Amino acid sequence: EKNIDAPIIIIGSGYGGAVSALRLCEAGKKVVMLEMGMNWGKSGIPYSNLLKPDKSAGWLKTKTIAPFFNIFSLKPFTGVLDRLDFEHINIWVGRGVGGGSLVNGGMAVTPKESYFKEVFPNLDSDKFYNIYFPRARQELKVNIISEEFLKECPFYKFTRVGEEEAHKAGFKTMRIPNVYDFSYMEKEYKNEVPRSAFNTEVIYGNNHGKNSLDKTYLQKALDTGNLEILDLHSVDEINVNQDKSYTLKVHQIDTLGKTIAEKTFNCKKLIVAAGTMGTLKLLLKSNAVNNLPIPENLGKNWGNNGNFMTGRNWVKPLSGGTGAKQSTIPVAGVDNWNDPEHPFFAEIAPLPMGMDVATALYLQINRVDKKGSVYYVDDNLKVNWDASNTQKMRENADYFIKKMNRANGGTRAHLLFDNGFGANICYHPLGGCVLGEATNEFGKLKNHDHLFVLDGSLIPGTIGVNPFVTIVALTEYCIENLIQNNEFA
Ligand code: FAD
Repeated sequence: EKNIDAPIIIIGSGYGGAVSALRLCEAGKKVVMLEMGMNWGKSGIPYSNLLKPDKSAGWLKTKTIAPFFNIFSLKPFTGVLDRLDFEHINIWVGRGVGGGSLVNGGMAVTPKESYFKEVFPNLDSDKFYNIYFPRARQELKVNIISEEFLKECPFYKFTRVGEEEAHKAGFKTMRIPNVYDFSYMEKEYKNEVPRSAFNTEVIYGNNHGKNSLDKTYLQKALDTGNLEILDLHSVDEINVNQDKSYTLKVHQIDTLGKTIAEKTFNCKKLIVAAGTMGTLKLLLKSNAVNNLPIPENLGKNWGNNGNFMTGRNWVKPLSGGTGAKQSTIPVAGVDNWNDPEHPFFAEIAPLPMGMDVATALYLQINRVDKKGSVYYVDDNLKVNWDASNTQKMRENADYFIKKMNRANGGTRAHLLFDNGFGANICYHPLGGCVLGEATNEFGKLKNHDHLFVLDGSLIPGTIGVNPFVTIVALTEYCIENLIQNNEFA
């Protein structure tokens, strides 16, 4: 069928899309979800790991695109990890039924309430901390590693070394909850079940252990019988019709990326949840190509969530470094957020190379003092972002690394990055379609009656921690109110 009618269409199956789908399906609505990536669960094709990249490793790429050590060639396939390259920033995203949940580290962090209030002064934070954040954590199956296991497990030496060194340098550390099932992990350690986190599986997908969205929200939505997911369906353009319904131009691809059908979808209600970059591209392009109305501030108030990668080489080389065996699932971070001079949070990240590289890797999350913007020109999405946007983040990274090296030895990680700083590495693009600015208070796009944006683009460029718990809580809040207000009647 080339021309399909559906009452409600959701574009994208990441966090925003999956939460919306579940709540609408529970309310008895029929929902069609269009996802450009593949349905891995259905396909039966296994995910590959960091040491043996295969089909899942790249979105139609000829070479691996992990942030480091890209020495592997690939046969193009609709894999789960994609990288969008802009002039001064590279942005990694997930592709597939489950979106970013398929490739991410699973760190499930609730923002500090004081910062949430600063970022969203108009939201009732009591309601968020009493209702929507707890609901998000419960549905996502967030859990915490046991301290005993952490203490004894050789796969967490990198964490123990990281914490010990941070404490020696005078920093505070914190435990980080995750959606990876730690009881599964304890069994994989004992070799009672197939290994996943202990088999270098993460950014090309986890075959076991991780409660990605296909196992939580999306599975629950499918169980209602009201959700249909069409994978390998990529939306190219959105048109609004005279009667205020929407028509979407869509192309269906095969696993080599070849178009196998051009289709048109018509719907009364449209939820755009294509992830920050996907949503901005669709809306800005539809505006450029066929005058889809968009608010003036669409694309503004965008940021990288303060993402800044840094690391140290020659970490404890004489006493076994950071460990040859490493879990892919991070469980600790350095919490320096309350330092007025150098506020940051730094994930103690694994570097599971299958050998001891005596290197410590940190993904820092900083404030975003200078926001950027996203726009569309000459058939291309562009990001207005350069070294001036990351200047303060670089100062924080420099401060952190110097203090760590002074207390513990080690050098800046020249092996990982040019001059030790990865300013261009971004996992958390946020904003551009900010809640209450480009949308109404519940995500309805301005200038529209039946188009809603529900994903990371609602968050104004920063949230101070890894973002998916916040994206889920915001979507829970918006969709509950939208349904109550009969927006989908
Ligand atoms: P997404 O999850 O990005 O979902 C959007 C979906 O829409 C995708 O599946 C995409 O394929 C689809 N899509 C896009 N355009 C179209 C189109 N035109 N037609 C059809 N479908 C389309 N966050 C954390 O909180 N903790 C972590 O540990 C963490 N680690 C990360 C590690 C990596 C390597 C990466 C890349 C991200 C990480 N993140 C982490 C970030 C987190 O995954 C994202 O913030 C989150 O997935 C964004 O959710 P979303 O709903 O906005 O969109």
